[in-house]
Amino acid sequence: MIDAHIHADCRPYEDFEKMAVAGIESAVTLAHDPLRMSNSAVVLDHFHRILNNDRERAAANGIELFVALGVHPRSICPDVDLVLAELPILLEDERVVALGEVGLETVRDEEEAIFKDQLQLADELSMKVVVHTPRRNKREVTERTLSIIAENIDPTRVQLDHVDTSIIDLALEFGGLMGLTVQPLKVSPLEAVELLEEYGCEGFVLDSDMSSSPSDPLSVPKTVHQMKLAGLGNEEMEMVSHRNAAVFYGI
Ligand SMILES: [Zn+2]
Repeated sequence: MIDAHIHADCRPYEDFEKMAVAGIESAVTLAHDPLRMSNSAVVLDHFHRILNNDRERAAANGIELFVALGVHPRSICPDVDLVLAELPILLEDERVVALGEVGLETVRDEEEAIFKDQLQLADELSMKVVVHTPRRNKREVTERTLSIIAENIDPTRVQLDHVDTSIIDLALEFGGLMGLTVQPLKVSPLEAVELLEEYGCEGFVLDSDMSSSPSDPLSVPKTVHQMKLAGLGNEEMEMVSHRNAAVFYGI
């Protein structure tokens, strides 16, 4: 299994063992806002940790981590230009499979400009992008997010994440990959199964978004287990817990 969206830097060493025991083989760990991102050095050190220390901690437990780097809307520091200047070089690293997570949070002008810059960069570099959708004003912000995506990049190169019932119609229409984040306070394993039964498994990936918020490192295997109990087939379980992410990220 692949967990398509985690924040390994916020998790203890032992979580990786739990994941491996439950059948997870790899995961995509993404840049986010674990600290007060007060300047570019903090953001770049965060990237460095994801690329090095976290991959080592996970590998010691048999989990291969792939990396996504980018400026999260809650990580915009006063000298963000220095991060954006460094980003194209960092994205060339073979451990990096996508730009992310990026997107909008409160839809400030600065957030929009940085989001657009990064989508254009991904487009130039033919990279995949992971786009966050926020908890607050989710539908309104997602509508704006999707219109910026449509103007700046081929949607089939985008994973729109934290999709739930409130935005499922918008997500289906957008045409890219859809991340179903199974996490306490977001979507439960049972709710995820209901969504997959209703809309089919094509175009969906499962992820835990495990971070410092309430999270479950076993979200993906637990959801697969619930799919099995609900009578969904092996093909469908394999698609959302492995194949769709493997094909999208080339991993
Ligand atoms: Zn996240």
